[in-house]
Amino acid sequence: MNIVLMGLPGAGKGTQADKIVEKYAIPHISTGDMFRAAISEGTELGVKAKSFMDQGSLVPDEVTIGIVRERLSQADCDEGFLLDGFPRTVPQAEALNELLADLGKKVTYVININVEKEELISRLTGRRICKVCGSSYHLQFDPPKVEGRCDKDDGELYQRADDNPETVTNRLEVNMSQTQPLLDFYEKQGVLKNVDGQKPIDEVFKAVDAILQQDEQ
Ligand code: AMP
Repeated sequence: MNIVLMGLPGAGKGTQADKIVEKYAIPHISTGDMFRAAISEGTELGVKAKSFMDQGSLVPDEVTIGIVRERLSQADCDEGFLLDGFPRTVPQAEALNELLADLGKKVTYVININVEKEELISRLTGRRICKVCGSSYHLQFDPPKVEGRCDKDDGELYQRADDNPETVTNRLEVNMSQTQPLLDFYEKQGVLKNVDGQKPIDEVFKAVDAILQQDEQ
């Protein structure tokens, strides 16, 4: 089961991704997480990605497609995978189709989680992440028990550099202008499935799961 999970920043891709990979036992491949890991490890990839990420711009395609190709070639992707945050552009989607064809695979479903822009801005600017385990909180909707500390390991909570209000607006605008052609691309291929992301987390997952069950039968 080769899944692409789509939705604007803050739509809940990460939350739904965790649930999908747990239930279906496939690797969760998030290009944003891969770039953040590279930055914190200080690798060459991290140096290349950082300036783009800090501005809320996309990392160039040749860099991004390269890391995805390498990751999807690994053995743990043989039974399927979940892509989160990639592809973000039509050229990336075309490159994905080509590289999957080389591996004898194709995209099974593209799941698009729909959430309105105002709701996304509020979700993103209130988001706080644990420095230790990466757990995500929201100042208003899902606050930690102790202000500024993670419930799980008491780690310090921080705001991602690209979650500040100016960057969030830019990220959303960059994403919105590039998402529609991508949705059109996958609609034409007959693999696009839309899900209402403004419902409670478990209801969103039920809708996602119902789609994935179709492939299991
Ligand atoms: P995310 O965690 O998915 O919101 O990604 C955070 C940032 O990583 C984005 O704003 C981009 O700078 C970069 N990034 C993640 N995925 C991609 C991609 N598919 N193409 C280009 N840049 C990406």
